[in-house]
Amino acid sequence: MIQSLTPRQITDIVQGQLLGPSEDALISMVSIDSRSILQPESTLFVALKGAKFDGHTFVPSLLDLGVSCFLVKNDFPDAASISHRASFILVDNTHTALHQLAAYQRSLFKNPLVGITGSNGKTIVKEWLGQVLGRKFPVAKSPKSYNSQVGVPLSVFGIHATDKAAIMEAGISKQGEMSKLEAILKPEIGIFTNIGTAHEEGFPSMEDKLKEKALLFDHSKFVICRKEHAAIHQHLLDKLGEERLIVWSDDVGCDYTLTVRKDPDHAKILLMRPDLSIFTFSVPFLDEASLENIRHVIVASLTLGLEPTDIQEGISHLKAVEMRLTLKPGINDCLLIDDTYNNDLAGLRLALDFMSAQRPKDRKVVILSDMLQVGKPQEVYQKIAELLQYHRVDFLVAVGQHIRQALSHFQGESRHFADTKSLVAGISDLNFENDLILITGAREFRFEQVVDRLQQRIHGTTLEINLNALTHNYNFYKSKILPHTKIMVMVKAFAYGGGAAEIANHLQQMGADYLAVAYTDEGVALREAGIKLPIMVLNPVQESFIHLQQFHLEPVVYGLDFFKQLGKYCRHQGTDMHIHLDFDTGMHRLGFEMEHLQDLKTLIIDFPELRIASMYTHLVGADEEAHHDFSIRQLEDFLKMCSTLESALSYRPLRHALNSAGIVRYPEYQMDMVRLGIGLYGVEVSGLYEGHLKPISSLKTTVSQVKHLKAGETIGYSRKGKMDQDGQIATIAIGYADGYDRRFSNGRGFVLIHGHRAPVIGNVCMDMTMLDVTGLEVREGDEVLIYGPGISLKELAERIGTIPYELLTNISSRVKRVYYLD
Ligand SMILES: *Cc1c(COP(=O)(O)O)cnc(C)c1O
Repeated sequence: MIQSLTPRQITDIVQGQLLGPSEDALISMVSIDSRSILQPESTLFVALKGAKFDGHTFVPSLLDLGVSCFLVKNDFPDAASISHRASFILVDNTHTALHQLAAYQRSLFKNPLVGITGSNGKTIVKEWLGQVLGRKFPVAKSPKSYNSQVGVPLSVFGIHATDKAAIMEAGISKQGEMSKLEAILKPEIGIFTNIGTAHEEGFPSMEDKLKEKALLFDHSKFVICRKEHAAIHQHLLDKLGEERLIVWSDDVGCDYTLTVRKDPDHAKILLMRPDLSIFTFSVPFLDEASLENIRHVIVASLTLGLEPTDIQEGISHLKAVEMRLTLKPGINDCLLIDDTYNNDLAGLRLALDFMSAQRPKDRKVVILSDMLQVGKPQEVYQKIAELLQYHRVDFLVAVGQHIRQALSHFQGESRHFADTKSLVAGISDLNFENDLILITGAREFRFEQVVDRLQQRIHGTTLEINLNALTHNYNFYKSKILPHTKIMVMVKAFAYGGGAAEIANHLQQMGADYLAVAYTDEGVALREAGIKLPIMVLNPVQESFIHLQQFHLEPVVYGLDFFKQLGKYCRHQGTDMHIHLDFDTGMHRLGFEMEHLQDLKTLIIDFPELRIASMYTHLVGADEEAHHDFSIRQLEDFLKMCSTLESALSYRPLRHALNSAGIVRYPEYQMDMVRLGIGLYGVEVSGLYEGHLKPISSLKTTVSQVKHLKAGETIGYSRKGKMDQDGQIATIAIGYADGYDRRFSNGRGFVLIHGHRAPVIGNVCMDMTMLDVTGLEVREGDEVLIYGPGISLKELAERIGTIPYELLTNISSRVKRVYYLD
């Protein structure tokens, strides 16, 4: 909060009635969620009443926790009797009081507040703008997509007096809501991102929706909009007048002209300002939605006084924003993109972009309902058909009366169903198999039933991979290095057990620069899965030269003979090849040593066919402080070897040395590239940043049977397990053949069932394991977590004297991998 308040002051602001102490406490935080209270003595708990919950029911337990001030409805029966324990502020309506308190705090903030509304892109524009401005000065921004009647006031309480700007998004679902948010936010600067064509419940027409959203800007000094959104532009012009608008466009004639030029892997945005000065931004995306969002960010940053160079600096550091769309494993190896509640053209465009970024499957299928928009149906459906065509959709499943019109314009295969019920009934006839399926429709069509039918039922043992957690971890390491330093991700050993193709594809989307695999066939598999990034192969063999060449893989060369053989091969084939040189500075595994460098130089000159893409070394003890001196010696030796070799070259190869632990411990040695491994998969081995990473994988299985045993009975092979007392055991469907280490036998290992720890009893079998579940409520079919959030790999590894790497990579390939975005 900007200013801490006493219960008396709060009472005055919300015009309530105060019971209990009035001055004792100083309130600096506001909470509506009983689970998120960190400092109870300085927190005001606001009891809100919703359809499914009532905050008032938490009051007794929060009193015990030590919360000192409560805002409650004036008919809350217990207030008088417990007001000796805390302050109670009684009001007619706690929602209204929350708004009043937020408006008061807002009025104390004298720096610019940016308010963002629109149909799509609000959260991304807010996040990016926050990141760009945040490099110059402290900025407050609403968390996640806190944009509702409750989220906005809570966001305001997150502003601190030291913030130089605040960025808040405002979302509404019906008429009458925006003026309430405006009364709190009163943004000096507004951004109206865009407006969807969907006819949303709660608005009679699109014009009404536009008008309602624009209410956010009633008192704004400036509002930013894009001229191409003609309806928005016109409405704001009529409402606010030209002086208060900042308009940008692809074309000349507005305040800012921002034209886009696309290159294969990034885009350039040419900015022309009113004074005709020109600046070129380089941005890492190509899809239309991102290009619009980033241009809003550029204009807002300029309006807030940033220089173009600072803005470019911020854009270069942008972190990938986690995806809103959900990816789910489907039946018959299908992959589902669940976008059930999206129903306008802008949303469809986003979803199709997202679809194009996924790994190719046999077919692209779109299941789409009527669009309940208000525009001209004929044009809209023709547009939809063109859009699907453009994204190379193979099969359209259309549901509803109106969407029929799209079918005549669509050239791919299609099926029509009158309603969701008939689609669900006929779904098995559609023979979905290994397809990529986008499911998107209006709320009324209740497409969650379709998702439910197509979703894979998980049974047996599965490894679930959360790709958003992967993004999180990637961003963590990216934040530790300079923006231009490249990242090579180690996806050897099936991406540390996670499944290489899917993970590599996600990395490609996030903008990783390089991949590395152990063997050539792993690289071939990635190419066959459509991965385009450069791939380094750590252990190439002579037999695989032809595959290296065919699939554009880049071998590591670590010996003189191998260099010569490869050079001769390339000369014979009349081809060039990118290679990487491994320098041994202490690992003593593979690699050139100092004494080989003279001969190596000669070979490099003899075989110009082999182009040295990079030179690297590997640290042996970056995870442990104890080896600090040794690590530094390795790094310094490596640099010496690099310069020795470079004297024979007319170009400069990339240099790289750091693995995950090295990145956090020796960022000053990041050089041109770093090699990220285990950290990406959620294990921070150096221990310096415990808790900063998210586990990306959860290994799960199910209970096959529960048995009740008497004291003294024995369990499993060799009768190693024994009941000390009467109790029950559960048999689960995972054993050492699945990669569940046999060393977990006899109580060394444990799992989580319904959040409770259950130890292994007896020996781990090949396909099954028994657990002691005495005292726990366990049934056949219950889910069992082997590791994942709640069971750390590090702890498990320590229990059996190994390292997390081994546990991750031991998971057998017969365990099904499923990928999702949460
Ligand atoms: C596996 C590997 C890495 C990654 O190491 P992590 O400790 O998993 O980060 C880096 N470089 C080389 C050469 C490797 O083999």
